[in-house]
Amino acid sequence: HGAVEFRDVHFSYDPARPILKGVSFEVPAGKTIAIVGPSGAGKSTISRLLFRFYDIQSGSVLIDGQDIRDVTQESLRAAIGMVPQDTVLFNDTIAYNIRYGRTDASDEEVKKAAELAQIGAFIDRLPDGYKAMVGERGLKLSGGEKQRVAIARTILKAPPILMLDEATSALDTHTEQEIQAALDLVSRGRTTIVIAHRLSTVIGADEIIVLKDGRIAERGTHLALLRKE
Ligand code: ADP
Ligand code: ADP
Repeated sequence: HGAVEFRDVHFSYDPARPILKGVSFEVPAGKTIAIVGPSGAGKSTISRLLFRFYDIQSGSVLIDGQDIRDVTQESLRAAIGMVPQDTVLFNDTIAYNIRYGRTDASDEEVKKAAELAQIGAFIDRLPDGYKAMVGERGLKLSGGEKQRVAIARTILKAPPILMLDEATSALDTHTEQEIQAALDLVSRGRTTIVIAHRLSTVIGADEIIVLKDGRIAERGTHLALLRKE
């Protein structure tokens, strides 16, 4: 459940400038694919197309064999969890931010998700910005802590598909390793698409595709691609 397929996808934001020039790949349910490549190659565009933020010009995007054009925006959002590079939080408690998208979740479930993401101690606090207004409940969250909020939200949402768009690239090495461990926990058993700059951050992926100038330049396992470098 949660297989993703891009079939000969062509896409441009502006007709004069093609961004994806026939991209095809398959992620079997529960497997992890990594998309690497230079900045501007079209990696984030792939994530936007999966959410159907834009319509493709030709080809198709399928989830469990179903064309996403036939799926409502609402069910797409329910099916896909996203941990972006920079998580923007609502000016409300961390618990509220974690519960966002799963308003039916009990306090107990929210607490458990927060603990798994290692922000259990913060859930009644408010994120950055409102400190002056709220006094000691205000809390300035680091980049890594914001990522943990996004991870806790995703743990609670438990979507079949997970999209990690350079989720650890803005963090220092130590935090990156910790967040990576938390992400590994969330992605276990889910169809996962990891977007990354560097090959070294996606060692565990079942397949890696290298996107260059809107085309898949290479694909293979981490080891096979390293041998070619
Ligand atoms: P990557 O994630 O690989 O860095 P992107 O998918 O973000 O690349 O962008 C691919 C290309 O599309 C870039 O040249 C970028 O400038 C362009 N682009 C991205 N978003 C838009 C947009 N909304 N409108 C026009 N061009 C865009
Ligand atoms: P929810 O958090 O309930 O899933 P949102 O309306 O915040 O709903 O967004 C739906 C999904 O799309 C979220 O997982 C969000 O992280 C993701 N998303 C939002 N903006 C972008 C974007 N520009 N590119 C890719 N994914 C995005």
